[in-house]
Amino acid sequence: MEAFYSLQGEGFHQGKVAYFIRLGGCDVGCVWCDVKESWTSGHPKKSVNEIVVEAASYPGRLAVITGGEPLMHDCSPLTRQLQAAGFQTHIETSGSHPLTGDWDWICLSPKKFKFPLAEVVYQANELKVVIFNKSDFAWAERFAAQVGTGCKLFLQPEWTKSAVTIPLIVDYMKANPQWELSLQIHKYINVP
Ligand code: SF4
Repeated sequence: MEAFYSLQGEGFHQGKVAYFIRLGGCDVGCVWCDVKESWTSGHPKKSVNEIVVEAASYPGRLAVITGGEPLMHDCSPLTRQLQAAGFQTHIETSGSHPLTGDWDWICLSPKKFKFPLAEVVYQANELKVVIFNKSDFAWAERFAAQVGTGCKLFLQPEWTKSAVTIPLIVDYMKANPQWELSLQIHKYINVP
């Protein structure tokens, strides 16, 4: 759908320069999705080689594959070629499709609208749960109990509800300090 060079605004790697590759298509259907234009698959097609050559024209060597739901595609050719060009490969996924690709970091953001597959949950390096309302804390704990050892745990306020949910998240974290806060800092500093 698009690619751009910016800062990772969320989760464990927030604040790092990254090249984002947003693959078109998503069948998850989150009501609060902020990239609904990604849902259709009618975006212009580009070869893996074109994508990697564009990525390599910038000095950063961290690539974040996102969507849409990137696992609707076979990510193996893209990640192989990115790694061959010296990139670290990170994915942002709902985990709702089988895992393909060679990943240096898997960020799982499970969605109630289409549940993640157990194989993705178990391999996640980071669990990032969007908090839209109070019931999402229980949803977060459900997956925290399923991830592998060492998986980082993040709670992230849904952007439009953040005035209401940030105080709830802070209180929850104080009582459950295994969780860390993820803010969409790219939105605060107004970069893509
Ligand atoms: Fe939007 Fe991501 Fe949900 Fe798909 S999984 S609907 S792209 S927030």
